[in-house]
Formats: sequence, structure tokens, C-alpha cells
Amino acid sequence: MVARIHATADVSRDASVGDETHVWHWAQIREGARVGRHCNIGKDVYIDVGVSIGDNCKIQNFATLYRGVEVANRVFVGPHVCFTNDVYPRAVSPDWQVVATKVEDEASIGANATILCGITIGRCAMVAAGAVVTKDVPPHGLVAGVPAKLIGWVCECGRPLDRNMQCAHDGKSFPELKRKASRPRSRRRK
Ligand SMILES: [Zn+2]
Repeated sequence: MVARIHATADVSRDASVGDETHVWHWAQIREGARVGRHCNIGKDVYIDVGVSIGDNCKIQNFATLYRGVEVANRVFVGPHVCFTNDVYPRAVSPDWQVVATKVEDEASIGANATILCGITIGRCAMVAAGAVVTKDVPPHGLVAGVPAKLIGWVCECGRPLDRNMQCAHDGKSFPELKRKASRPRSRRRK
């Protein structure tokens, strides 16, 4: 099945949209943007010039992905999520440069979160709704708040991991995260 694009959506002729992707009402996909296969691009989503989105992503209503944003595969972007691409925003800045942001495979970004630029959101990471992310999020990290802080770790299924880095829901464990989680504490002791 080729992509299904609603009649009200504005998809540039220079953008590419993969097979079996749905683009809903009033979404805009600009020139040079690439959207993969099996994606869901919600109502009023804005995908700026050159933005890249992998396969099997869900971009919920009203999310805005500006130039410089690169989203990998199976990424969830909640409704009204706002990416930025400017460290020194001014209405007029003659030497303005795009600052890139990356979202790795299977990460999720909760509703209404704001993502400052120059950041990487790691694989399977979880950004809580309403968070303002100002620095990198490690793989499987759970961040929340304004500014967002690392408050825990999550499983591939999205549920929080216990102290042994195990998921009560599906029994998966992530011992490699345990070492990461203990690192900042040992640093403080010195
Ligand atoms: Zn799990």
C-alpha cells in the first residue's frame, strides 16, 4: 500500500513519504523531508525542511519537528511536542545556524514536552509529558520536569525498571544500565 495522505495535508513534492504511512488532516511536510514506512503523522503535525523520520514512528497531533531534527525508527512523539533548533533565538540573526537534535530508536516523548536543540535522546528513553529537555537523555533513561532530570530507567516496553534493572511486567533485565546508574553516585563520594 502506498502512503495515504489526507486531501488537506500539504506534502511538498520534494518530500518523501514511505509506503503504508498515514498523513492526517492539515499536516505539513516540507521540501527535502523524509518520512519512512508504516508511520502515523497526526493532524496538524509540522515537519520542517530536511527533517528525517525513520520507519514505524508515531508523530501525534500538533507536534512540531523543525529543521535539524532526525528521528530514528519506532519513535513515539506525543501530541504538541515541540522541538527547537536555535540556541540563541532572535527574530533577526544574520549568522543563524541550525543546531541538530537526534532521537534514537524506540524512544518516546510525552505530550507537550519541549526538546532543546543539540541533544540526543537515547534508544528506548522515555521523556515524561511536559518535560523541558535541556541535555542528552541516556538510552533507557526516564526524564521528567523542568528542566528535565533523570529520575529512573525504563524497559523496552516503557515501564519503569526496579532497583535490579528488571521489568516487573515482562521480566526483561538490563544489567548494563545498573553500572551506568551507579556511576554518578560513586563520583559524588570522591
Ligand atoms: Zn518491560
